[in-house]
Amino acid sequence: MSCLFCKIIKNEIPAQKVFENETVLGFKDIYPQSKEHYLFIHKSHTENILELIKEEKSLVEVMKGLSEFAENSKLFENGFRIVTNKGKHGAQSVFHTHFHLLGGEQLGGFGVN
Ligand code: 5GP
Ligand code: ZN
Repeated sequence: MSCLFCKIIKNEIPAQKVFENETVLGFKDIYPQSKEHYLFIHKSHTENILELIKEEKSLVEVMKGLSEFAENSKLFENGFRIVTNKGKHGAQSVFHTHFHLLGGEQLGGFGVN
């Protein structure tokens, strides 16, 4: 299994972890797109959001992990954005389902650019 994020889960590649429980991991994005930029993943491998939705329990677990983290940080009062990219037009580059959690400053509009 050569999945980058599975390697991060197994501590084979280092990452700045910000949240971890039995099933979910949150860590800092290596190329942050905003002052705070984290990635939340489920520890069981799925390729993209459509696969994860079929694993309903896992979908809920990853969202609950993200929520627990956000509710205990400044993101809670100031707001944030959650993004997941799927496939070519979505510009997905890592094929282990992940949710970008962006915030820490005023974000711009949202669109093709
Ligand atoms: P995608 O483009 O698939 O939606 O998001 C993949 C994200 O993973 C990108 O924002 C990228 O910066 C991040 N990323 C890629 N490689 C690594 C890595 O080795 N460590 C961490 N922490 N993030 C990574
Ligand atoms: Zn994986």
